[in-house]
This record gives sequence, structure tokens and C-alpha cells, in this order.
Amino acid sequence: MSTPHLNFINGEWLAGNTLAPNLNPSNLADVIGEYAQGDAAQLDLAVRAAETAFPAWSTGGIQARSDALDKIGSEILARREELGTLLSREEGKTRAEGIGEATRAGQIFKFFAGECLRLAGEAIPSVRPGIGVEVTREPIGVVGLITPWNFPIAIPAWKIAPALAFGNCVVLKPADLVPGSAWALAEIISRSGIPAGVFNLVMGRGSVIGDALVKHPGIAAISFTGSVGVGRRIAEACVQGHKKVQLEMGGKNPQVILDDANLQQAVELSVQSAFFSTGQRCTASSRLIVTEGIHDAFVEGVKARLAGLKIGDALTAGTDIGPVVSQAQLEQDLSYVEIARSQGATVQAGGQRVACHTGSGAEGFFMAPALITDSTPEQRINREEVFGPVASVIRVKNYEEALAVANNTEFGLSAGIATQSLKHATHFKRHAQAGMVMVNLPTAGVDYHVPFGGRKGSSYGPREQGRYAQEFYTTVKTAYTLA
Ligand code: NAD
Repeated sequence: MSTPHLNFINGEWLAGNTLAPNLNPSNLADVIGEYAQGDAAQLDLAVRAAETAFPAWSTGGIQARSDALDKIGSEILARREELGTLLSREEGKTRAEGIGEATRAGQIFKFFAGECLRLAGEAIPSVRPGIGVEVTREPIGVVGLITPWNFPIAIPAWKIAPALAFGNCVVLKPADLVPGSAWALAEIISRSGIPAGVFNLVMGRGSVIGDALVKHPGIAAISFTGSVGVGRRIAEACVQGHKKVQLEMGGKNPQVILDDANLQQAVELSVQSAFFSTGQRCTASSRLIVTEGIHDAFVEGVKARLAGLKIGDALTAGTDIGPVVSQAQLEQDLSYVEIARSQGATVQAGGQRVACHTGSGAEGFFMAPALITDSTPEQRINREEVFGPVASVIRVKNYEEALAVANNTEFGLSAGIATQSLKHATHFKRHAQAGMVMVNLPTAGVDYHVPFGGRKGSSYGPREQGRYAQEFYTTVKTAYTLA
């Protein structure tokens, strides 16, 4: 049996109560490793260590912070192929996608290595003579970070890097389904020169570690990415505990295709954002809203493109779409295809479990991407997040109806439009009720140096990433001085 992967608390590797296996969704016989499962007492140890480390870390100088973040970023980038391979093995996105995600994690650490040197304040004249006013930003304390399974290294990175850059201490609770990438990142951080207690990793169940983290009085703020149901409960607990909170949750992202779109481009960007990474992206397009004149050609184009895709082992060269992450997620994806059918929609392609088309042919959670047509905005398939390779087409008359349907959702993360019309693109950018808007680009796929986040039921609190990350990870102080 391989060496177990332990929790990292106060600069030491500590065993949890039990161990849980990390399984490869492309090959159910492949156990990636055994990972510690902590309990509430261990979580308490981590929070106390972080509280103890906070005074020195938060005032200790930005050069040391910048150097540590830069070193972490450099190691991730140097090891991107190895880390990307591990990520694909545990999560199921293709190896190319896994390496892309690991690269992004490295770039994020490099970006925040610079950001900690740029935390500017303001000097403002007072309305009272002889007094100066300064507005500065200070760290908030110990932050609890709770992350989902679909971006096992990038999401921990885009929370850890700004938290540390701006002088906070961290307790990370990664998704229990994919602890491998977060553990590898913690191991890199453990050798970066960051003092004991500043960064802590506690793996384990959401209902145990996540719940204890959210309720711990030593935690000043929680940054959460995951499902709507868990996010809402976390928000309530944070309000009760007087904690700052940031939530990034689900999506039901619309991709509008107008008659004047470049057909080939519209097909490609829709297939890319709906089905690549197995559709397991919060920014994936799951509602394809298509005007009448291009509808049939678009559907035929998507079907033809899907027929050529290879579904198989995430680590095999030539695989286009890897497996669904778990048995439970696969069952959810398949059940939504049935729900769509039962409510009157047509399954044009895919929607069933399939054997591996590439690699060893091992047993895994493979599913043929499902294209659903004849769906209406009120059907469950167009209202609830599936979070798999399932997309439904809604036929509309014109741009005005397309925009109304796009906004007819409780979510608001990303929205896309494919059109040659500057007028419609400009109008859509202004009126799409989403945090991110894409013109002739997939709804999924964003830069690491600009804000990321949504509106309505998708997000709550300040934006993540880019220089906007400082809104959440700092608190403002106003100081008055009599000259
Ligand atoms: P999830 O809500 O089941 O779990 C997310 C994290 O919360 C995990 O670490 C889990 O262990 C933890 N958790 C579970 N119960 C908890 C509790 N009671 N208290 C505290 N923590 C708890 O989500 P998931 O299945 O891992 O991820 C999929 C979801 O994440 C989808 O809805 C997707 O849209 C969303 N997501 C959103 C974004 C975004 O930026 N908007 C990005 C990626 C994923």
C-alpha cells in the first residue's frame, strides 16, 4: 500500500482519524492514493495554529510573502505536466485540460506575488483643517477556504494566493472527491518558506470539516465554491457567526446563437463550452438559445461534431472528453436526460452511459454527450443545473426573445452570444444578467488576472481573482492624524 497523504497543520503532517481512497473515474480499478480524513478536533488545531501565526505573518513584510508566492508559482509551472496528469487522473478532465489547469494555478500564484506589492491606499484631505485622512487595507485574519471537485488545483490556488498575498492565514478544506491535487499543492506550499501555521490543509467530509470550519469562532471569513444548497447554508452560518462570506455557486449559462452568426464558429464554441471538460464547469453552456433561421443547421452541425468526439480515458492521447467524476454525478446526469424526455423534449444525440472509446477500455463513468432539442424555458432541464455533458436547445424567434430567455433563470454566472451584429453584441453585453459575458467565444474559459464571478443565484459577495480579490481578502481602515 502507498504512503498515506496526511493533513498539514502548524507545519507538520498529521494523520487523520481514518483514510479515504482517491479513485480514478477513468479506471475504477486504479486507486490514486489514501488521503487523511480529519475530524472537528483536528480542524480546531488548524484554526488555532493559524490564529497564532497571524500577528507575525500579517505584519511581517510583503517581500517575504511575494517571494514565497513566486516560489510556489514557479514550482507549479515547472511541474505542470506531472500535476496536470494527477489532476486528470483524479477528476477526469483530459490530460491537456489538466495541464492547462495546473498552468493556470501557477500563473495565479505568480500574479499574486506581484499583487502583494501593489496593495495601495489613499490619502484624502480632511474636511477639518490640519487633519490628514488615510485609507488603508489590512488583512482580515484566518480565512477558511472550501473548494469543489471540478477544478481541484485552480480553485484552491485562486483562493489561497490572494489570501496569503494580503497577509491572511489559511485553513483549506478541499473537496473530498479529489484531494490529490490540493494535497500536492499543500506539499509545495509546505516547502515555500511560509512559517508554520500560516497555511493549513484539513481534508475530510464537508459535513464534518466544512461544517466545523464555517462555525469556528476563530475564522474571520469563508470563501466557498460549490453547490447552491451548501452555499446557502454556509451563508446563513456565516451571518450568525458574524463572518465575512464569499460564495461562488452554480450556473445555467445561456449561449445565444443568432441567425447572422458564423455557423461553424457557433457550433465549435457551443460544443466546446457545453461538453468539453465533460460539461463539468460552472461556466459551461447548458442552454443553447437559437433563432429560427439557423436552428436546424446549428443542430445538425453540433450532432456532426459530437459524432466525431472520442470519449475515453482522460490520460490517453486523442481523448476529447473524459469520464464523469463519480457514480453519483453520472446518475444525476442520466436522470436529467430522462427528465427532459419525460417533459416532452427530444434527445437528438447521446445521453447514455458508454464504454471507454480510447485507452485501456477499463471500466469508468463514461457518458455520451447529450444534445436535447425541442425544449422550452420552463422545463426542468432548462431551470436546474445538471453539471454534466448535457445541453438543451431552445428555439426562439429573434434576438429580443433570445435575450429574455437567456435572462429567464435564477442563475447569472456567464452568458454568451454568437452574432456578426455589433448592435446585438453591444446590447447583449449590457443587458445579459450575468457576471461574465462572451461575444463569439465559449461561455467557459476565462483569464486569471481579471474578476471572476456571477450575479443572482450564482454568486454572493465580492468577486474573486484579479486585483478585485482584495475586496474580500482585506478590510479597510480609515485613520485620522492631527498634524
Ligand atoms: P458541493 O457543494 O457538494 O461541495 C463543495 C465543497 O463544500 C466541498 O469541499 C464539500 O466537501 C463542502 N461541503 C459539503 N457540505 C458542507 C457543509 N455542510 N458545510 C461546509 N462545507 C460543505 O459542490 P461540488 O459537488 O463539490 O461542486 C459542484 C458545484 O460547484 C456545482 O454547483 C458548480 O456549479 C459549483 N462550482 C461553481 C464555481 C463558480 O465559480 N461559480 C466553480 C466551480 C464549481
